[in-house]
Amino acid sequence: MEKRDLICVSCPIGCAITVDLDDNGQVISVTGNTCKRGDSYARQECTHPERMLTSTVKVEGGRLPVVPVKSAKPIPKELLFDCMTEINKVTLTAPVKIGDVVLKNILNTGVDIVATNEA
Ligand code: SF4
Repeated sequence: MEKRDLICVSCPIGCAITVDLDDNGQVISVTGNTCKRGDSYARQECTHPERMLTSTVKVEGGRLPVVPVKSAKPIPKELLFDCMTEINKVTLTAPVKIGDVVLKNILNTGVDIVATNEA
């Protein structure tokens, strides 16, 4: 059995959560959370961790040489490095607007990469 201590990031309170996992990595119990969101967060974090991805993409002909981008939704943590590799291959042509889709359905995750500023 494994015990994992997490801080819930679902709201600013930041409850300290303990998760007990069996030998197969399945969640046995979640304690320390004070609401259901904490339970969901802890189960997700221990079984299928996800992260928002932020980066920059090259832009030709714009005010600035790069534009900041982010994933529209969290991406499985184990795919973040490969997603960065895909993002680094992209060069946009100005003008770029906030919310423009830079990469659609990156690596078949169902998640788009979008611009978060103008260029
Ligand atoms: S468990 Fe609930 S109250 Fe505690 S930090 Fe998470 S979301 Fe906030």
